[in-house]
Amino acid sequence: MNYPLTLSAILRRMKQAVSTRKVFTQTNQGKIHCYSYGDCYRRVCQLAHALNRLNLKPGDRVGTLAWNTFQHFELYFAVPCWGGVLHTLNLRLSSEQLIYMIDEAQDQVIFVDETLLPLLEKIAPKLSSVKSYVLMGGDRSQKTTLSPVFYYEDLLEAGFDCFDWPELHEEMAAGLCYTSGTTGHPKGVLYSHRSQYLHAMAVCLVDTLGLSARDTVMPVVPMFHANAWGLPYAAVLVGAQLAFPGPFLKAIDLASFLQEVSVTVAAGVPTLWLGLFQELKTGQYKTDHLQRLVVGGAAMPRSLIESFEKELGISIIHAWGMTELSPLGTTTAGLRFDSSDSQIYDQKAKQGLPAPGLEVRILGDLPRDLNEELPWDGKTPGKLQVRGPWVVSSYFQASHPALLTQDGWFDTGDISTIDPQGCIHLVDRSKDLIKSGGEWISSMALENALMAHPEVMEAVVVAMPDQKWGERPLAWVVLKNKSVSTLPVKTLKDKLQIELSKTFAKFWIPEKIDFVQEIPKTSIGKFDKKKIREQVLKEQTGLN
Ligand code: AMP
Repeated sequence: MNYPLTLSAILRRMKQAVSTRKVFTQTNQGKIHCYSYGDCYRRVCQLAHALNRLNLKPGDRVGTLAWNTFQHFELYFAVPCWGGVLHTLNLRLSSEQLIYMIDEAQDQVIFVDETLLPLLEKIAPKLSSVKSYVLMGGDRSQKTTLSPVFYYEDLLEAGFDCFDWPELHEEMAAGLCYTSGTTGHPKGVLYSHRSQYLHAMAVCLVDTLGLSARDTVMPVVPMFHANAWGLPYAAVLVGAQLAFPGPFLKAIDLASFLQEVSVTVAAGVPTLWLGLFQELKTGQYKTDHLQRLVVGGAAMPRSLIESFEKELGISIIHAWGMTELSPLGTTTAGLRFDSSDSQIYDQKAKQGLPAPGLEVRILGDLPRDLNEELPWDGKTPGKLQVRGPWVVSSYFQASHPALLTQDGWFDTGDISTIDPQGCIHLVDRSKDLIKSGGEWISSMALENALMAHPEVMEAVVVAMPDQKWGERPLAWVVLKNKSVSTLPVKTLKDKLQIELSKTFAKFWIPEKIDFVQEIPKTSIGKFDKKKIREQVLKEQTGLN
């Protein structure tokens, strides 16, 4: 029983118990690369020899700037099992943020996809900690200003396909992932071997994501964001096959790829699935194998859940989590319904039950009930706090403030209710709540209601400063038929307001609903409310 919970144990399973299972990758050459976990294991060994030759020391941070590919997957195992720390860099962040993260983490080497070379070349002169670069996908004919540079396949070729793996302690650091920095600098979250191991087990449970050897799982969620939701480790643990889409994230590419390799479960943010739904609805794809989609990172609109399930027969597992939670927090897979339950989709649009191993609570936010635990009545909203073996306790560098409450809970920054079943329902991110005339308005609830309208494709609601009320909600709406100018905008706006007033109090209804062509998104595809607020403010103060 005294057995260290390390990623090395999962790596041994890759070699032994599940070695014949396959990994597919959509490559830049338009082909599908396919090999077995057994082949992968041999290359992971070769990569570990390469890490020795790169003069790294145990504990060193190894950066990756890469899409979801088999090479990135090999690094997911080789680096931590060799004794290093895998630092996955979010390639969609700004140059300044990338420099900040690489510098704070003191990355010693960076592995980069050939398609991302220009991005890294631009910032390389400012990276003082990095001693060398490794180019993945390219070969010696590829010109680069990076120096010294090694070629991934050359490095692997020079290594043996077996390796004497070190004995690791389960508390050692395995991975480092920064938050997306939507409020200030990104913050580093360090994952231990133990936390990753336990998280991987939790991901596989039937009532979380239910991964098994019967699955082929496609993580569309990037491997540079929150460990691709732990799917690479979870898949190896149970022998699920993996399908990596590479940089090809358009709905049409995803639909062809998932058909080609018979994906059974795919995971990503709601904006992705909106596009995929429209693509699959064309009826051009055979998708009987696609049983479920895992959706998280932002609220999945109730209407889209219903459309996927009723029109395409694909079940939706709505999940909530965050980088600081490795990232799995809750899922709807374990909710039980009476088959006659007419509220079934209302329930599925909630964020679900805490994954086994996690505990949740809500605390009062108002001066009168500050820090008092609130009831699980499905009505009272409070600050959502979590604790458990894969919840971070501090950020990577001590310069960031302490994270946990005095009694050891992590405050998520989300406001939620919890019902008697234990199901959480996010009201909003605390910074996104709108305070109008002293009363709270949930931007998330309004967005969900707007997106339920048949003519609306996407909707976002933010707070707009208001002299009389303090703040008022403002909505930006993208229509399914984007040719806004030909539509009677005024009539549509009235229709939306009337629709909202059927559900919400009068003071919730946004007076201002703007029809836009596109809603700005963050590096990981969520609505970029910070940018939208800035734009609204600029417009208000006449700076535009
Ligand atoms: P990140 O660490 O970038 O993954 O962001 C985590 C935050 O995304 C959470 O604190 C929530 O505010 C939001 N989030 C994640 N999943 C959901 C969901 N299913 N519904 C609503 N918001 C979500």
